[in-house]
Amino acid sequence: WEDDAPVSGRRLKKEREQKRKLKPGSFETMGLSPEILRGIKRKGYRLPTPIQRRALPLALSGQDVVGMARTGSGKTAAFVVPLLERLRAHSVRAGARAVVLAPTRELALQTHKVVKELGRYTDLRTAVLVGGDSMEAQFAELAANPDIIVATPGRLLHLLTEVEGLSLRTVQYCVFDEADRLFEMGFAEQIRSVLAQMGEGRQTLLFSATLPAALAEFARAGLKDPAFVRLDADT
Ligand code: ADP
Ligand code: MG
Repeated sequence: WEDDAPVSGRRLKKEREQKRKLKPGSFETMGLSPEILRGIKRKGYRLPTPIQRRALPLALSGQDVVGMARTGSGKTAAFVVPLLERLRAHSVRAGARAVVLAPTRELALQTHKVVKELGRYTDLRTAVLVGGDSMEAQFAELAANPDIIVATPGRLLHLLTEVEGLSLRTVQYCVFDEADRLFEMGFAEQIRSVLAQMGEGRQTLLFSATLPAALAEFARAGLKDPAFVRLDADT
């Protein structure tokens, strides 16, 4: 009898954990592979945030997505988890298969860290290409044939002209993160140039805290029939 209490305490905890996993909208109900779920758990994410709950399944299904939600709402994992899952599912090495563009060096480095953390149990290879780092170091990263490139637009375009054999034709998954800032910072031309170098069949995602008219216009022109997921500031 005395032994009963701790055992049932543990059982209760297990049951609660089981219930969380089966809750509609949990990461566990999204059809993710075990190594991706493990990465999510290791990162400490227990339940998806609202933008993740809505945008992640759409991206996972292969749709183009425009995701708009305030800063701090968890937009990074909303595009990184489907990226990892989709690349993992077709793991034939075929040059860079995913590109994430960010407006600043700091943001690119941050996003690259999240890609590595969430993808730590996959064998996908990543490179981060930002201004301020030596070109030589980046040549070496590219020589390792990364599956995923996280970059600022200027440095990516520069490397595309410098590195023979580097091409975006193989890109299947392209993300514009902090797209409002990419445009505010005057990257519109570079972005168009990057887009023009990628294959037609790719999936494109655009994430932003705000969606000014020019950006919505770009999304309609550059994305294929995108699903708009918009969470208002107070949700
Ligand atoms: P955004 O890009 O929308 O500004 P981030 O993707 O940078 O937001 O996420 C903001 C913070 O929330 C980060 O510290 C991130 O690790 C954390 N976070 C994201 N998703 C989850 C989750 N599902 N559970 C717990 N924390 C999360
Ligand atoms: Mg962000």
